[in-house]
Amino acid sequence: MAQPLIERYREYLPIEPGEPIVSINEGSTPLIEAPRVSDRVGARVLLKFEGLNPTGSFKDRGMTVAVSKALSEGAEAVICASTGNTAASAAAYAARAGLTGAVIVPQGKIAVGKLAQSLIYGARVIALDGNFDDALVLVRHLADNFPIQLVNSVNPYRIEGQKTAAFEVIEELGGPPDALAIPVGNAGNVTAYWKGFTEWDTAPLLYGFQASGAAPLVTGEPVDRPETVASAIRIGRPARGDEALAAFEESGGRVRAITDEQIIEAYRFLASEEGVFCEPSSAASVAGLFVHGIEPDGDRAAPGTIVCVLTGNGLKDPDTALASTPGVIECSTDPTEVEEAVFGDRSD
Ligand SMILES: *Cc1c(COP(=O)(O)O)cnc(C)c1O
Repeated sequence: MAQPLIERYREYLPIEPGEPIVSINEGSTPLIEAPRVSDRVGARVLLKFEGLNPTGSFKDRGMTVAVSKALSEGAEAVICASTGNTAASAAAYAARAGLTGAVIVPQGKIAVGKLAQSLIYGARVIALDGNFDDALVLVRHLADNFPIQLVNSVNPYRIEGQKTAAFEVIEELGGPPDALAIPVGNAGNVTAYWKGFTEWDTAPLLYGFQASGAAPLVTGEPVDRPETVASAIRIGRPARGDEALAAFEESGGRVRAITDEQIIEAYRFLASEEGVFCEPSSAASVAGLFVHGIEPDGDRAAPGTIVCVLTGNGLKDPDTALASTPGVIECSTDPTEVEEAVFGDRSD
């Protein structure tokens, strides 16, 4: 049976014996061989499919630790700003813990599945007339002034929980990969992977990817109005940007931008060639390899084994899937028409 993440990696996490554990059996996600992606990039590529966590994203790894700690420290409520997945995860773990959950999301800018999740788990969902960066400023203010625990990735327990994904990768491969490719939004996850790798004395190249309409770490400038189809990484002022930049540098890796078209191409490729349906944001990791290649800067050898982190589940955002595919073939019950529908040419 799958173990709660905190049990599996207890000795590496700041949870004392006897502290309550709030778990929905997160973590232990599969590392999936990707032969077609591998062919295309010229290295062995594996997909760390974090979309198979209980609420469908890697956020659950951090949330189990953050909400367990909130409970043991006597909090009655948790709050976060979110592009959707942190909200869904906070809502679920708050429900599990018997705490009140409040989430602030940019109005009209989160995927429909994430909104549905947050609501059905019973959180108070506030749709802000502003973007993620505005929401983060507001929840920090609330957490500073009221008895409510902030569970964004500025909360150090989130990073502690999320670093366990690096441990799983190392255990499953029997050693670290040569490189890790990862989408970068608020930059908490890449910071967490780097912490996990270095705690286990490993240092793979880190290849981070941002959407070109929301690429402050690539341009070196904050983005006031971030825009991208990849809503989970639509962030203009990454809270852990400096730490992430230090990690890219230390690892010998880099951070680069890819366009929305390139993200959608990789998103469709993963689903139609590998049978793995992830979120558009997640596909940024694979798009980045397709577009920028795998050669590191400087004189390090090209990586032979690369793990791409697929951060979230494609089912969260059915609208983008429907908008980026040819759509259904409408048909009467006439057998000839059905034959034509099944076997006939499709121009798209
Ligand atoms: C949160 C999230 C990201 C970005 O992670 P950061 O820690 O903010 O860099 C990427 N993809 C998905 C699906 C996410 O939910």
